[in-house]
Amino acid sequence: MLTIKNLHASVDGKPILRGIDLNVKPGEVHAIMGPNGSGKSTLASVLAGREDYEATAGEILYQGQNLLDLAPEERARAGIFLAFQYPVEIPGVSNVYLLKAALNSVRKHRGLDELDAMDFLALVREKMKLVKMDESFLQRAVNEGFSGGEKKRNEILQMAILEPTLAILDETDSGLDIDALRIVADGVNALRSPERGLILVTHYQRLLNYIVPDYVHVLSQGRIVKSGDKKLALELEEKGYGWLEQDKNPVA
Ligand code: ADP
Ligand code: MG
Ligand code: MG
Repeated sequence: MLTIKNLHASVDGKPILRGIDLNVKPGEVHAIMGPNGSGKSTLASVLAGREDYEATAGEILYQGQNLLDLAPEERARAGIFLAFQYPVEIPGVSNVYLLKAALNSVRKHRGLDELDAMDFLALVREKMKLVKMDESFLQRAVNEGFSGGEKKRNEILQMAILEPTLAILDETDSGLDIDALRIVADGVNALRSPERGLILVTHYQRLLNYIVPDYVHVLSQGRIVKSGDKKLALELEEKGYGWLEQDKNPVA
């Protein structure tokens, strides 16, 4: 589904990613961990095709296509979901309007008809239950005045409605309380499927108690310095990241 080969990327001309290799197959959940500033969000941003993030070497193949050739909207229509792709707050635009516009754009690309208002509302209501979100959030401006936990739930709602093929969730340090964390995790788990790939960016182990990844990768200074399974996340919790930094230049 997604193959990243020797990806190098710069932000505003500053090299950040320095040779990333990653392979995500349908059905897999990959957690990307690593200390602050190691390049996790940069990787997510390059996958999203955000402005100012430039791939300078290597390649990214998504379903056989060169992802770097696609504009951000094309990536979204091709089934890639990036939580932060949707602006944090959009005054004057209702949440329900944005959700419907985004869904119909994706449906069009998949050769499906637009959903009419009734069908769309039925779908949204069903998905809102998943994240235990109150319907009053539909008419509110996108994310305006939402708490951190509500924004996260809204992201999961967007994802549940768009049913992406590949979802990339960059867990910002939004400080979810334990209840919000569970709700978000339950929402993500409900969306796990044999057809869908998931990349979870987090620097805390605790999320992975609820969303158990198939693979864990540790990023340090723009490289994946270690990969493993869920046990690696536990090891990191115990030991921190310092011991891996030393692995970067092994005395071979
Ligand atoms: P992480 O998500 O792992 O904390 P980031 O990908 O956000 O790390 O950042 C990696 C490095 O890239 C940091 O040194 C950060 O300062 C730098 N960086 C990220 N975004 C920008 C930007 N827009 N302009 C300049 N430097 C940036
Ligand atoms: Mg950061
Ligand atoms: Mg980050």
